[in-house]
Amino acid sequence: MSILVVGGAGYIGSHAAHILRRRGYDVIIYDNLSTGYKELAEGFELIVGDIADASKLGAALARSDAVMHFAAHAYVGESVENPRKYFKNNVTSALALLDAVVESRVRKFIFSSTCAVYGNPVKVPITESNPRQPVNPYGATKLAFENALEAYSQAYALRYVSFRYFNAAGADDSATIGEHHEPETHLIPLILQTIQGRRSALEIFGDDYPTADGTCIRDYIHVNDLAEAHVLGLEYLSRGHSIAMNLGTGRGYSVREVISAVEKVTGQSVPIRIGPRRPGDPPELVAEPARAEELLRWKARRSLEEIISTAWSWQQKSQTAIREV
Ligand code: UDP
Repeated sequence: MSILVVGGAGYIGSHAAHILRRRGYDVIIYDNLSTGYKELAEGFELIVGDIADASKLGAALARSDAVMHFAAHAYVGESVENPRKYFKNNVTSALALLDAVVESRVRKFIFSSTCAVYGNPVKVPITESNPRQPVNPYGATKLAFENALEAYSQAYALRYVSFRYFNAAGADDSATIGEHHEPETHLIPLILQTIQGRRSALEIFGDDYPTADGTCIRDYIHVNDLAEAHVLGLEYLSRGHSIAMNLGTGRGYSVREVISAVEKVTGQSVPIRIGPRRPGDPPELVAEPARAEELLRWKARRSLEEIISTAWSWQQKSQTAIREV
């Protein structure tokens, strides 16, 4: 079975490509390399193309049995400042991808959605029936695509899984692929860069939230746990269903707890500075992962310590592994 991994030269897509290959699937990576890196696609067939390029996609789809779509812009702050960029890529171009799929014989589609579709949750842990009311343009674009998938699946017999990711982190054990964003905005890589002396201090965005230690709580999930759910998602699609589901651990950690865990794993102390709240950050986002556990027989297995230790191994290599930097 051949899987077209769209956005497979990015962080989560490259991990999915590796896990798919280890499970015996054929993989074709399709990526425009705008935020992806060819180094992360090394060893795979890589088609450099845009998701809006129907003819290039058509040729790739003719050789594929299913699509995984990871190609999206994913910075909340940037989406507030530059919503055009987000709606153009994550909705307009993504709909061109979906049209190309409908025009092909492929009827299995796995979509990288996000817990940002929930906005400020009415209850934590968050179930899939929480109202979808995004509070930033990034979440709005992902919700728009979820809605399109629902309508297309009814009309065109397309089967889909929308995976709503919580906070993806960590790296493959091989340390040959990992998280690399320019600019980096995510907590764990920023803490590690601080330890490396590349930043003077880690700024904590607010310590006056209504949480036990005043800092925000998130559900950090190892990227390979996410990737493994995608493989199980393919099997679920083969059973003929469509669904949206959370991918998280069900356990939250505060920013301060993550910093302490990094200090424990690396044996080094992290200089910190308390800054103002970052606009749009809800105090607590934690998944209720029961649906994925029940329907996929999947569970996030890797601990926060494993997330940090694999991220740390990768972080120490990434500056040479990715040549653009
Ligand atoms: N955070 C922080 N300092 C940073 C980066 C992030 O305090 O330099 C906090 C952020 O406010 C949030 C958590 O760490 O509560 C996770 O943020 P990240 O950007 O990694 O992921 P997000 O939850 O925004 O998807």
